[in-house]
Amino acid sequence: MFNLRSIEINVTDESAWVQAGATAGELYYKITEKSKVHGFPAGVCPTVATGGLISGGGYGPTMRKFGLSADNIEDATLVNVNGTILDRNSMGEDLFWAIRGGGGASFGVILSWKIKLVRVPAKVTVFNVTRSIEQGALDVLYRWQYVAPKLPKNTYIRATSQVSNGEGKKKAVEVSFIGHFLGQIDELLRLINESFPKLGLQRKDCFEMSWVESTVFWAGYPIGTPINVLLNRTNIPTFFFKSKSDYVKKPIPKEGIKSIWQMVHKIEKVYVQWNPYGGRMNEIAASATPFPHRAGNLFKIQYYMSWTEEGIETTNKYLSFSRKLYEAMTPFVSKNPREAFLNYRDIDIGANLHNQTEFDIARVYGSKFFKDNFDRLVRVKTVVDPQNFFRNEQSIPPL
Ligand SMILES: Cc1cc2nc3c(=O)[nH]c(=O)nc-3n(C[C@H](O)[C@H](O)[C@H](O)COP(=O)(O)OP(=O)(O)OC[C@H]3O[C@@H](n4cnc5c(N)ncnc54)[C@H](O)[C@@H]3O)c2cc1C
Repeated sequence: MFNLRSIEINVTDESAWVQAGATAGELYYKITEKSKVHGFPAGVCPTVATGGLISGGGYGPTMRKFGLSADNIEDATLVNVNGTILDRNSMGEDLFWAIRGGGGASFGVILSWKIKLVRVPAKVTVFNVTRSIEQGALDVLYRWQYVAPKLPKNTYIRATSQVSNGEGKKKAVEVSFIGHFLGQIDELLRLINESFPKLGLQRKDCFEMSWVESTVFWAGYPIGTPINVLLNRTNIPTFFFKSKSDYVKKPIPKEGIKSIWQMVHKIEKVYVQWNPYGGRMNEIAASATPFPHRAGNLFKIQYYMSWTEEGIETTNKYLSFSRKLYEAMTPFVSKNPREAFLNYRDIDIGANLHNQTEFDIARVYGSKFFKDNFDRLVRVKTVVDPQNFFRNEQSIPPL
């Protein structure tokens, strides 16, 4: 799809047509060329393309204010199984519903999206503060579960448990709190001092910048990095990773957090990232798009292992770690079904591995990704691709 990457911004009607091979970084850059007060709610990794990102939901640090990428789509073009190019009008509302969170690859090849631009302030604020166990990380993280999902919509604080790896640091678990605020420092400090004083956020931790600069910060670049890094389509250095996901509906007790940290300490090359829900996510009905994880969720977890060594043995070691960690999390996360995020493809949760789509297996992963929306996705699939031409290990089956 990388040849299909044009981006046409229309500031007057606050929309853009984006081809599916354009990356999120290219989109952010093009928006800011035309307007400093518009943005788009999408992911933190600039090299991810809009084809997969948006069709799987797409979330990032403005999700609590604006919802997912898929919640901000006005039109799309797609090649269907007969090779016909359709738009929203000719594909109909069912198929248009399905590709906004149900995964495009089950239904056709998406050529482009018409996205709705959102209004952002000229200055936003970011921070990244780390708390060690000695600095009270346990209390702060425990409290975060009560506060972060209830903060005003313009505030997003991600909490990541990881092993400290700085030079001269002793190996220990620590928690990073990475924040995004659609406003300026004074207002953020007032809010956090009132609602989350345990975090101990100080003025020196906070940085004001434009929205597009905040996308560079969230991509992990040092503050001050020129925004043209967003145009780099390759991720260097190369490394391997495995992600899994979970949804949490009740706060995890302190003893539970300690047991998670023991595993993080042992595995080392892992981070357990908690992404707060609430805000706009609570207002959008679970059936509005195929993405069902809305009201009732406190946060989503991403378990992320990464390594650089090649070879099947190392790979198996980390896959095994990731499965053990996932197993150990069972008491703390959603049940019946144990929900999962489609964009973190994880064949461990159910997959058709032999190039044929068995319905019973599809229902296992389908109910985790889509809950009750799975049945409607199946009905759409049955109409638009009854022969199951578009299939993969975790695609939607026709009846
Ligand atoms: C480093 C990194 C960071 C990430 N951060 C985030 C994040 O912050 N938020 C988030 O929501 N996700 C995030 N993701 C997950 C990402 O959204 C998914 O991996 C997404 O599927 C990538 O889309 P792609 O088009 O780049 O990938 P691909 O691997 O090309 O595609 C992934 C899937 O989408 C399908 N697809 C792709 N293009 C089309 C198309 N044109 N038509 C139909 N189907 C298509 C493919 O067939 C495949 O099933 C991240 C991934 C990485 C690697």
